[in-house]
Amino acid sequence: MSAVPTVQLNNGVEIPQLGFGVFQIKPEDTRAATMEALRVGYRHIDTAEIYGNEREVAEGIRDCGIDRTDVFVTSKLNNGFHAPDRTFEAFDRSLEVMKFDYLDLFLIHWPLPAVGDFVDTWKALIEIYRSGRVRAIGVSNFQPHHLDRLAAETTVVPAANQIEIHPYFAQDDVRAFDREHGIATEAWSPIGQGQVLDDPTIVHIAERVHRTPAQVTLRWHIQRGDIVFPKSVTPARIAENFAIFDFELADEEMAAITALRGGGRRGPDPDEFNWIP
Ligand code: NAD
Repeated sequence: MSAVPTVQLNNGVEIPQLGFGVFQIKPEDTRAATMEALRVGYRHIDTAEIYGNEREVAEGIRDCGIDRTDVFVTSKLNNGFHAPDRTFEAFDRSLEVMKFDYLDLFLIHWPLPAVGDFVDTWKALIEIYRSGRVRAIGVSNFQPHHLDRLAAETTVVPAANQIEIHPYFAQDDVRAFDREHGIATEAWSPIGQGQVLDDPTIVHIAERVHRTPAQVTLRWHIQRGDIVFPKSVTPARIAENFAIFDFELADEEMAAITALRGGGRRGPDPDEFNWIP
């Protein structure tokens, strides 16, 4: 099986294009799932403070015996910590919980337009970045108009924007904006939390290329150049989702999946979502 390609972020840091997502994995299952993913070959884990499993992700990495520097670890600022002082506190706490002295990528989880000001929060992330305790900083669920404000009011362009993308919500407008501004796009819920896997077009392509619908969908993201991190606790699926680098989709198969677009967002609209846990 060929190696996972990397994407170079706008500050030169390399991120593996395929990672392992741990949203909705219970803390008690996270260490084992992380270890299984690392055993299979994943070297990029996507967690968040709000997932409640940062500690167990870190335990899985340590207990696997893999060098910390060989795994790319992302975490995210919880929604309740947007005030700059609270941002510093939350970042320190993530490091403390994980017993790490740095993170690879730290993201503002949601812009929360009606809660404080995400530009001030971004300035706090810039300060953390300048302290050397995180290799790259970015955002999640930011729309182009949010990114425009960061560009106008600060001097650091986010390295990544993590947004909902799957065949039913291809987000080509936000992806194009990210690309024009040197921001890497990360696709969350890449298989639409499983909802795209029965789609007749995807099933048909999967039969034609002798792969599963999940593999075809993940391959579609990879060929579009986005970064993905499917979630599963099932060892067979963890392995299945990793085995996507020894086949290619033809242009017409890519186009047929991109044309699906049915249904739109599964998750919240970032312009309206202001939820604090
Ligand atoms: P996903 O698209 O990865 O789908 C996960 C679901 O699909 C799970 O229920 C799993 O059982 C099932 N599944 C996984 N592999 C399968 C396979 N091969 N065959 C059949 N079913 C399979 O959804 P997700 O977990 O929402 O997204 C992935 C990651 O993205 C998360 O774990 C998290 O790291 C990140 N995420 C970020 C945000 C954000 O706001 N930034 C929001 C949601 C998710």
